[in-house]
Amino acid sequence: MPNLYPSRDLDGPPPSPSALLDELSSAGVAFDVGTNERAEHARDWWPLSIPEVARGHVTNWPGVVVRPRSTLEVSSILRIAESHRVAVTAQGGRSGVGGGAVPETGAIALDLTGLNEIIALDARSCTVRVQAGIFGPDLEQFVQKSGFTVGHFPQSFDLATVGGWIACRGAGQFSNRYGKIEDIVAGLEVVLADGRVVRTGALAGAGPRSAMGPDLTQLFVGSEGTLGVITAAALRAHPVAGHQVRAAFGFASFEKGLEALRATLRLGATPAVVRLYDKRESGRSFEIGDANVLIVLDEGHAPVIDAAMSVLSAACIDNGASPLPDSLVETWLGHRNDVSALASVTRAGIVVDTIEVAAPWSELAALYRDALDGLNGIDGCLAASAHESHAYLDGACLYFTFAGRGPDPSDDKWAEDYYRRSWEEVMGATRRHRGSISHHHGIGLVRGPYLADALGEGFSVLESLKAALDPVGILNPGKLGLSSPFGDASTFMTSSHSCP
Ligand SMILES: Cc1cc2nc3c(=O)[nH]c(=O)nc-3n(C[C@H](O)[C@H](O)[C@H](O)COP(=O)(O)OP(=O)(O)OC[C@H]3O[C@@H](n4cnc5c(N)ncnc54)[C@H](O)[C@@H]3O)c2cc1C
Repeated sequence: MPNLYPSRDLDGPPPSPSALLDELSSAGVAFDVGTNERAEHARDWWPLSIPEVARGHVTNWPGVVVRPRSTLEVSSILRIAESHRVAVTAQGGRSGVGGGAVPETGAIALDLTGLNEIIALDARSCTVRVQAGIFGPDLEQFVQKSGFTVGHFPQSFDLATVGGWIACRGAGQFSNRYGKIEDIVAGLEVVLADGRVVRTGALAGAGPRSAMGPDLTQLFVGSEGTLGVITAAALRAHPVAGHQVRAAFGFASFEKGLEALRATLRLGATPAVVRLYDKRESGRSFEIGDANVLIVLDEGHAPVIDAAMSVLSAACIDNGASPLPDSLVETWLGHRNDVSALASVTRAGIVVDTIEVAAPWSELAALYRDALDGLNGIDGCLAASAHESHAYLDGACLYFTFAGRGPDPSDDKWAEDYYRRSWEEVMGATRRHRGSISHHHGIGLVRGPYLADALGEGFSVLESLKAALDPVGILNPGKLGLSSPFGDASTFMTSSHSCP
């Protein structure tokens, strides 16, 4: 893990006032005010914060870590927090990469990982109901015993919870066949800021589709803990695949590879995994430096899968691709969740991050070039590259990686400037090419400054929803670019409490 504090006791500010703690005690809720626990719940996996964490700097100390065991307890906690006007940040695995789970100083860190029960599997209707704090491996182990898969496998599978997947609008690596989380979720149980419990979709007794006004489930999908706390979800599950196929191709240009994918999706073929790496990433991941490598994996009912693969193969050949050994898929499977290199890279003073965006096919190749030109043009840039990771009828996700180092690796100011400029370049290019500024990591703190511009007048609708559902503003203040009544959590690098 790259984001670990030094192994010593951390010294922090005093915990929440006793009036708040006494009420939590009376409500029978478990909590912890120890400095190490509060520091642990003060950070997520935001790369900007990793060097600070390594030095034992805690920027935003929560006042207390609270661990509910039921929806009723979450409801009591929010009622108490609202009456004390104390901020609450919902937290799952704290694997978010943009500061979304970083609480305000003095806030309640609401650790939801105790809500980890499977409620029921409806095998006939292919749905499973779970509490929101369950981690991916526990969920999959349960459904696979009955011959099902939810099919949501983010790279952070071991680190993240169902509630976090939904709150960030996440995507798994097999999403072309099983869907992004917004396609998988069929209903939610959410606790509102005043403690009311609302159930939507399948958890409110609705059928698989409905025409009953706007979709209230989707209102909370991607809301990043700002509109309510998700305590349970109904998820769609698929029979475990009986058949799996793999293939790999090499393209002379990244653009040709994108074209093959566009043609494939246009004909309705949706192989589970279609990942196209540019030459730099192909060299890094597969030791193939002279081609843009596409790896493909599909699974499911044999006639469906074989048809999809023949559509994709034809589109690749039409675009001049050469077949490569399908053992490259095995190579990817073996390393796909391995981020062990990150710790040594950051220790070497290299600033590194990834940025995933999405754009229509008509703009995608130009976005790829523009963003990389921008990144490569920044002083100190050591490498900039991209791959396509999720594809749709109307466009695809591009996932950029950048790394840079300044003349003096201990110069924090240089590091932050380089980091912010890299983000500016990719956010700017994405907006110029009619793209979404996030495809699956969400907004958190890092993209907060860009959301109002990206949503246009829609941002005022988001602000109105926030004011209506959380009038005191206690729910994860400062995230999604919304203003905070408690201060500015986004001043992440500039106001840290230092530990001895
Ligand atoms: C190595 C690595 C690889 C990653 N790969 C992927 C990937 O492939 N695909 C992908 O989509 N993401 C990926 N991520 C990002 C991250 O894992 C996801 O965003 C994940 O969904 C976050 O889940 P979590 O439980 O850790 O949430 P947290 O980080 O704890 O929280 C994230 C946000 O959701 C809110 N939240 C959490 N739980 C709830 C809840 N129950 N109710 C309301 N709000 C809540 C928090 O307040 C916060 O705003 C990766 C991260 C890492 C570190």
